[in-house]
Amino acid sequence: MLKVLKFGGSSLADANQFRKVAAIINAEPERRYVVASAPGKRFFEDEKVTDLLLRCHALAEERNPFDDTFRRIRERFQGIIADLGIDLSIDKELTEVEKAIANGASSDYVASRGEYFNSMILAAFLGIPFVDAAECIYFDENGKLDSKKTNTVIENRLAMIPRAVIPGFYGSLPSGEIKTFSRGGSDITGSIVAEATDADLYENWTDVSGMLMADPRIVENPAPIDFITYRELRELSYMGATVLHEDAVFPVRRSGIPINIRNTNAPDDCGTMIVPHAEGLSGDRLITGIAGKKGFTAICIEKDMMNSEVGCGRRVLETLERRGICFEHLPSGIDTITVVVNSKDLEGKQDMIIADMQRTVRPDTIRVHENLALVAIVGRGMTGKPGAAARVFSALAKESINIRMIDQGSSELNIIVGIEDKDLHTALKAIYKEFEPKE
Ligand code: ASP
Repeated sequence: MLKVLKFGGSSLADANQFRKVAAIINAEPERRYVVASAPGKRFFEDEKVTDLLLRCHALAEERNPFDDTFRRIRERFQGIIADLGIDLSIDKELTEVEKAIANGASSDYVASRGEYFNSMILAAFLGIPFVDAAECIYFDENGKLDSKKTNTVIENRLAMIPRAVIPGFYGSLPSGEIKTFSRGGSDITGSIVAEATDADLYENWTDVSGMLMADPRIVENPAPIDFITYRELRELSYMGATVLHEDAVFPVRRSGIPINIRNTNAPDDCGTMIVPHAEGLSGDRLITGIAGKKGFTAICIEKDMMNSEVGCGRRVLETLERRGICFEHLPSGIDTITVVVNSKDLEGKQDMIIADMQRTVRPDTIRVHENLALVAIVGRGMTGKPGAAARVFSALAKESINIRMIDQGSSELNIIVGIEDKDLHTALKAIYKEFEPKE
């Protein structure tokens, strides 16, 4: 059994958090490879070390002094080392980084130093080796992750060491220069390491006890999600329920490795388990989660006898394709077809697209509904079971919310309804109330 763990910035924000992290790692011998973020916020108004580093870079670029900001970074790291009482000095290296910033080091290099130093400190505290991500995470000359090389190097390198700490967030280009992933990218590193080491589990330790059934900023006190499949996660993430970066899910999903989202501050909570398949999961709920998003436009095309006109749907979609626009949903009737598109993709192009549709499709009418919100009701438990859609619709009807569009995925895993933007929060609350688990 092998587990790869990733700790986020708030889990490693100060010495006290480091102690919690060490206790978690040392609690199980299977917890062998650890990916660390840079120190995050210790309190609400605090600043992440990555943000401070990027500010130093920006100030240096404008030829402004950055020594005050760099002093704060130095103090954060020195404070952690002193509080933990470990025998490690990174002063000289910090000074080198400060000089490199003054001499025009790239922003990726500068941003990556938060993970670099924090991982060194964690490795020293745990008494296990530090393996630099620059020597095991590789990008190609176009800046795309080189999965093949990365997997081979990690596999070989870690085969020799039973335990290690690896910095998240960055790797190196063929030129040897440092390149970072997008912000929050340590999640991706963790996933890559889990895949390359063929881990049994990827534990992603953060400051919440997993995913919730709905957005707690909208729905009061939503229930936690114990188990969710990768497919359900994709449906909910698409609607904006973000827990993990999509790129972070991909490597482990590809290898069928489950992810467990856990809370460093409540290590006894089981968190959310993201699994490849639903088989064998007990206590299934009808609904796993609900999420919604504003900012869609529906273009409704009506044409008499459309159902018997070969190529009509293709012509509709070609008008979008010609402008490089994806459609999100495509509900259709006998003589109607509706294309739901992200409103921002239509900006500056809408009139041209409509004119193009008029010309190539020759419809009877085209109507455009802006300010559409979509709500996704997601649950593997709905598959093959009657009643879920009826409950969604009656919950919305009770609130007098008009449904503009209905779409059910072919796997019966989700129901998507299109409503007015202004009704989104009321709809989410009403649907959640309908399906709230009563356990
Ligand atoms: N430290 C980086 C950030 O703040 C990467 C990460 O924490 O995952 O975005």
